[in-house]
Amino acid sequence: MLYTIEPRQGKSYDVIVCGAGTAGVAAALAAARQGASVLLLERSFSVGGMLTEGNAGITKFTEHCKDPQQYKTEVLDVLATDPRSVQVAGGIARELCLRLIASGGAAGTHGDCGSYVFTDRYALQALLLQLLEQAGVQILYDSRVCLVNRQDGCLKSVVAVNKEGFTEFAAKCFVDATGDADTAVLAGAEYVLGADEEDLAEGGARAVGQMQPMGCMYRAEGIDYPRLFAWFEENPGFAVQSCGLMDFENVKESYRKGDMCVFCVPIDNPDPATAQQKPQVLVQIYITPSRTGAVLLSFGPTHTAYTGSGVDAAQLSAGHTAMVHGALAITELLRKNYPGFENVRVTHIPDIGVRETRHIRGVYKMTALDVISGREFADSIGCGGHHIDTDTVPDAVRRMSMEHWRFHIPYRIMLAPGIRGLLVAGRAVSATRLASGALRTTVSCMQMGEAAGTAAAMAAMQGISPEELDVQALRAVLAENGAVL
Ligand SMILES: Cc1cc2nc3c(=O)[nH]c(=O)nc-3n(C[C@H](O)[C@H](O)[C@H](O)COP(=O)(O)OP(=O)(O)OC[C@H]3O[C@@H](n4cnc5c(N)ncnc54)[C@H](O)[C@@H]3O)c2cc1C
Repeated sequence: MLYTIEPRQGKSYDVIVCGAGTAGVAAALAAARQGASVLLLERSFSVGGMLTEGNAGITKFTEHCKDPQQYKTEVLDVLATDPRSVQVAGGIARELCLRLIASGGAAGTHGDCGSYVFTDRYALQALLLQLLEQAGVQILYDSRVCLVNRQDGCLKSVVAVNKEGFTEFAAKCFVDATGDADTAVLAGAEYVLGADEEDLAEGGARAVGQMQPMGCMYRAEGIDYPRLFAWFEENPGFAVQSCGLMDFENVKESYRKGDMCVFCVPIDNPDPATAQQKPQVLVQIYITPSRTGAVLLSFGPTHTAYTGSGVDAAQLSAGHTAMVHGALAITELLRKNYPGFENVRVTHIPDIGVRETRHIRGVYKMTALDVISGREFADSIGCGGHHIDTDTVPDAVRRMSMEHWRFHIPYRIMLAPGIRGLLVAGRAVSATRLASGALRTTVSCMQMGEAAGTAAAMAAMQGISPEELDVQALRAVLAENGAVL
């Protein structure tokens, strides 16, 4: 059977952003603030993607440093007096977090943005909606980009499907912020799904096609932290596992002050497939601003339940089902094993979180060496301070010991060669898996989104394609808007 689709004609815009997730909201906001007319197409009914509905932390505004004690005194404590000297990211990401911290909707560090910022479930979403509305962004929910029209190498329009059927929207410039490079791939961009030969050579993968496991940050409430901390202290044999460069003393101090804090505890591995091989797994517990709630993440062998491709509907579905069971099982084990968790209840399990699928082959491909050497680029649009967070990290990289560093994000990783009128922002940019392990973090994704949205608006207004844009002019606008370059 051959189907013919004749889409309805929708309005035309200066900029269309596909995907209202972490990078997409920043892109749409930045483009609209430049004066562009902007349509934001989103397949779900929320804005923020992994940042809001996925419960991910807003990570990381500060430079990298390996030693927890040194990180506390030389980076986090400096936030109280001289934040700009240790922060590597600004712009929209910092604007959002500062507003949330000030209103009590997020926990930061010394009233500013440190390594992690954790938010209330709806506080960030409400703020994003308010800012998008004020900037004049038109949001169309329930609208999945499924087709594109590319003429003479230039992207002219996209088709979104929703309950009304298929509608075609034209724009002068597009930002693909779908996380999976859906628009770019439909437009014919070259891409890699998971690992390729270059990743094997770099030591960032064991096999071609390897992808990071999918996963879940879920929310729970009703935790009595003072009781839990007292129990830890009464049981000195029980060593609280540190997480996010935070030791137990720092956790207690930060909790007392209402700042962001995180720690890990071990539980019996609830995954029967791997329990024999590894009987215990660690659960990361990020304390939310309510001070009785947590965002929880389990890692370790339970991940095997979620290996698979995030662009394969059957594997996504199987992963999601396993994840719901896993979150409930983990919570039950916490209740049984730890004082303070007696009244815990799960309040939100999101759609399964996808860490990695397609990476476009961009004009430039960022590498692990670019990240760990802090290589500077003439076309840098922002900086990051996250470590390389992937499933396969070579020992040489793991052992790398630099006191403080930041990495730089080149504009060219967002451009797909041969496709005019398009930028890609978020976790699908052009990078090796190892580099991607640092770039995929939420603050970096927002910075790429802000840069892509600003560039798209500037290109649309000048009647040129993003690859023809004067990148130094773009950098000047980003710096004016608070980016750290
Ligand atoms: C379990 C888990 C925990 C994590 N924890 C952290 C953390 O604590 N800190 C941190 O910094 N990072 C964390 N990350 C990584 C980080 O959250 C993501 O890499 C980042 O948020 C990705 O941003 P993005 O904009 O590329 O994608 P997303 O935020 O996923 O946004 C993509 C958006 O596009 C929409 N969309 C997709 N396809 C289409 C389409 N065809 N048409 C229209 N809309 C579409 C989606 O609905 C979504 O809203 C975590 C990731 C996972 C999976």
